Amino acid sequence: MPRNALIFDLFNTLVPGADAERDRVLERMAEVVGVDAAAFVRAHHETWSDRLVRWDAAETVRILAGRLGARPTPAEVDHAVRLRRDLGAELLANVTPPTLAALDALRARGHRLALCSNTTAETADLWPASPLATRFAAAAFSPQVRAAKPDPLIYHAAADALGVRPDRCWFVGDGADGELAGAAAVGMAVIRTTEFQDTDPTWPGEPIAAISELVDRLR
Ligand SMILES: [Mg+2]
Repeated sequence: MPRNALIFDLFNTLVPGADAERDRVLERMAEVVGVDAAAFVRAHHETWSDRLVRWDAAETVRILAGRLGARPTPAEVDHAVRLRRDLGAELLANVTPPTLAALDALRARGHRLALCSNTTAETADLWPASPLATRFAAAAFSPQVRAAKPDPLIYHAAADALGVRPDRCWFVGDGADGELAGAAAVGMAVIRTTEFQDTDPTWPGEPIAAISELVDRLR
């Protein structure tokens, strides 16, 4: 039986990961809640596993500011969360026309698409407004599934949402968080992309340099 379903990673696969912009926004958030910017950025990076599956954006601001000795007002927390959400919305809107055209071509050929993303809660909230959302039949976000790649649960959640077995799926991603090995472990065929970042260079096989190359690769 052919593999007909495609499961995509989001950041550094469909849109840029924008790590530098994220840190700049974190520094502005630190200023809003009155804590040291470098310490706030560091605390943020150190708590990624909590942020992926447990804390929402407001909790994250309150908990990290608290750990750094501040007690921000609700208005300050709201302001900081707004900065984070504005960046998230911008990142999700930043899809190139060739990527959208490739997704449309794959769908026209009968492929069904699902997203499988390690991300924080606000990305899941903002997803429906992204030009990507209408192309995807399903999306599995780590805060909603309460599991993050490479945990088999989140891959199964994406495949189940399409009503297919994982061994009928391709997984397309840059390779962060060990996601390629995780996908292979549940039976998905893996395609690595280097469009935005060469994250997992030792992964075997020829990567694609752009999502648009998928159209030929899967023909
Ligand atoms: Mg990624």
